[in-house]
Amino acid sequence: MALRDLLSLTHETRRCALPTHPRTPDVLVIGGGAIGVATAYELASAGASVTLLERGDTLASGCSYGNTGLIRTSHTSPLATPAAVRQALRWSLSKSSPFYVHPRPAVLPWLLRFVAATHGKRVAAATETLRALSMTGLRLHAEYARAGIDTGFHAHGILDVYATEHAFHQGIAEGQHHAAAGQRNQVLNADELRQTAPALSRDLVGGIYYPGDANCDPLRFVTNVGAAAQQRGVVVQTRTEVLRFERTGSCIATVQTSQGDLHPGNVILAAGAWTPRLSRQIGVFVPLEAAKGYHVDLQRSAGDPELPISIREARVIATPLDAALRFGGTLELDGLDLRINPARVEAIKLAAYRTFEHTRNTPITEIWSGLRPCTPDGLPMIGWAAGFDNLIVATGHGMSGLQLAPVTGRLVAELVFHQAPSHDLQPVRPDRFTPFLGRV
Ligand SMILES: Cc1cc2nc3c(=O)[nH]c(=O)nc-3n(C[C@H](O)[C@H](O)[C@H](O)COP(=O)(O)OP(=O)(O)OC[C@H]3O[C@@H](n4cnc5c(N)ncnc54)[C@H](O)[C@@H]3O)c2cc1C
Repeated sequence: MALRDLLSLTHETRRCALPTHPRTPDVLVIGGGAIGVATAYELASAGASVTLLERGDTLASGCSYGNTGLIRTSHTSPLATPAAVRQALRWSLSKSSPFYVHPRPAVLPWLLRFVAATHGKRVAAATETLRALSMTGLRLHAEYARAGIDTGFHAHGILDVYATEHAFHQGIAEGQHHAAAGQRNQVLNADELRQTAPALSRDLVGGIYYPGDANCDPLRFVTNVGAAAQQRGVVVQTRTEVLRFERTGSCIATVQTSQGDLHPGNVILAAGAWTPRLSRQIGVFVPLEAAKGYHVDLQRSAGDPELPISIREARVIATPLDAALRFGGTLELDGLDLRINPARVEAIKLAAYRTFEHTRNTPITEIWSGLRPCTPDGLPMIGWAAGFDNLIVATGHGMSGLQLAPVTGRLVAELVFHQAPSHDLQPVRPDRFTPFLGRV
């Protein structure tokens, strides 16, 4: 049965029948990032009455504003891998490395869960889960574009480039692995690389082109999916912060906001890295660490690449957008702290100048930081919150929240309408983590 056909059942299938207030809207989405807007859009498309609350002045006030826009079905291994742990230990001593953990007691349980998740079988299973979700994500991104939503979607593929023979050979081995999983790729030697992207430095030794990957413009995605959601009746309220919840039995009865109280039928927690601040109040355990990343936007200039380029050793992505050539990277676990660390920004600039010599004198138009909502096992949290009949958690998308936004929205809509989910939600269920010492 199509979601739309279930519309008439919405009220019967709602699990919270609180007598005190009429339950409006059907669904309240908290957070106006990529996950929030895609969820609101999918819910409204399925027939729900939806209100979306965003505390910022505009949609995309969080991490979704400035990411690098990649939609990669080829590289879907989670952050937590044995190689990541080895690399992180090496990098932790450098001020300009792409990875940093601010040592503090609060991060320790997350790190222990992270290391536990690097077990071979868990990594393989997480990679499969992310691949399946990403494939649907890519399909839905293309569907949004076909439906006329201008997200800056391009299916030109993505090119990985290498500065050392050692990393290039590792990349080729990785590419063979991805090919076995159905992700075609083409290995390019140094000459072929420059034929594909003439502006690339002569110092690069080779590249691997993944034609099945895509990209979009993150700000355009949030703005225009948000607008499409509004066209389908979603009420978007910016400058509205959710402050507290009132619980009655297994239901969120009241949502207190900076603009007054609401009594929704269902609540979707999609507040990105800030979700634990809200979930903690009602005893829902969401073990997220905010992983800070940066972008450095350069004015567009002749010679810019036409497709996104992943500068592998530096862990920096270069994405051509309409208004900028964006360089993004770095992962700092430093709490909810958006301060910009100049040493790490310098490292991104250096990677840009080394890879594209023509950018050395190009004006910088913006330097930005954002907080990725990262779970320890690298999988998002999508599903009903344990102990609640009208609360869904949709967060923890880490490095791939833009990529997974449409599929997350679709899955949330299926849950709200009590339809069989189109993906196995077991690996991403929000209650898969238990708090240490029983404390949230
Ligand atoms: C440098 C960098 C590069 C990246 N590159 C990519 C990429 O190429 N592809 C990809 O898929 N992903 C990428 N990511 C990750 C991606 O940006 C995130 O996964 C994604 O933005 C998370 O979306 P979100 O909606 O969960 O969170 P956010 O975008 O952070 O949205 C959460 C929103 O909730 C609001 N909010 C918080 N608390 C409240 C409250 N109490 N009341 C009301 N509103 C509230 C916030 O203001 C915010 O707008 C990158 C991230 C970074 C930093």
